[in-house]
Amino acid sequence: MKTRVKDAVQAWEEQVVALASELVQIESLTGREENVIRRIAAEMRQLGYDHVVIDKIGNVIGTIGNGPTKILFDSHVDHVDVNDPDEWELPPYSGALQDGKLHGRGASDMKASAAASVYAGAVIKQLGLDAGKTIYVCCSVMEEDYDGEGLYRAIIDNSLDPDYVVICEPSYLRISLGHMGRAVYKINVPGVSSHGSAPEKGINAIYKANKIIARVEKLGEEYMQLPAGERPSLALTKIESTAVSINAIPASCTLYLDRRLTQAETETSIAQELDTLVAGTDATWEVYDAIGTSWTGESITLRSFLPAWEIGLEHQLTKGCIKAYQALLGEKPEMYKWTFSTNGVASAGRLGIPTIGFGAGIEAMAHKTNEYCPVSDIIIACEFYSLLPAYL
Ligand SMILES: [Zn+2]
Repeated sequence: MKTRVKDAVQAWEEQVVALASELVQIESLTGREENVIRRIAAEMRQLGYDHVVIDKIGNVIGTIGNGPTKILFDSHVDHVDVNDPDEWELPPYSGALQDGKLHGRGASDMKASAAASVYAGAVIKQLGLDAGKTIYVCCSVMEEDYDGEGLYRAIIDNSLDPDYVVICEPSYLRISLGHMGRAVYKINVPGVSSHGSAPEKGINAIYKANKIIARVEKLGEEYMQLPAGERPSLALTKIESTAVSINAIPASCTLYLDRRLTQAETETSIAQELDTLVAGTDATWEVYDAIGTSWTGESITLRSFLPAWEIGLEHQLTKGCIKAYQALLGEKPEMYKWTFSTNGVASAGRLGIPTIGFGAGIEAMAHKTNEYCPVSDIIIACEFYSLLPAYL
């Protein structure tokens, strides 16, 4: 089996790498992924996928087979912006193949893996590895600003019911067993406006917020004293205030908090923390809703409470990944947990679907200047995705 997969991938090696390069050349910022999605859909159709659909919010989902065991591979195809084009050694959207690397924004995060998964679908079909399986290759939108929402909508809007989800984010060909969760909170502090020359007639919302800010800072520092690894974090990341002019006492102040969540933390436990932070004041808090529009014009609302997730070593999906990796590379895979957030917050965190991570590319390259992905990773990832269904 391994040899058949390797031979099939080798026969398509040039095309897989060419697709990865082409995807990097198509700029696809969050909410502006149309061109890259249409390009992938065309490739899937040309490769003979059984079914290809661009859904309501603009994800593309290619399906192979119709068996009872359903496996979904997810790659987001949006990427962060380039703020420093002059700092790049090669133009950021070059997609250049040089020194065994694919260069450009989105190479590691995560167009290399997207291309690998698209061709894995074709290999699975060609070799008949879809017997008893349904394979969904999902290239999803809007991950960078709306973690999980693209994949969540792909699963819900298209009534997909995957038994397993593989998040193809860069893991340097290691197996990722999960990651911490992430929440964003808004604390609203009311004040009473008055003229700046008569501050005693108003209540300065910023001064009131000060007390809460001090509590946030102290708690954030306490968390940093906990042993590294699975410790939570809390940070004040933005402050806004409203006043009719800069000559007026602010009528309100809003604080934004970034909260990283451990496995043990729930919405209820965090609610208690927020209540304590605002205790004794008339400030209120809420989970922040990130609101946006997809390239298809659909409105997106992400409620920013994204639970942590992890998969056990004894889970069938983990064991299947280990076996596929060993069959391919002749050694045990390295296992770890991602430090960043992925669409796994939707599949595992929100929907409870067994989820694991494996991808081409280097996570430290994500969002960085001179981003690249080793070309050899693309090939190995393609082989891995092709072989995995045989072990599930
Ligand atoms: Zn990513």
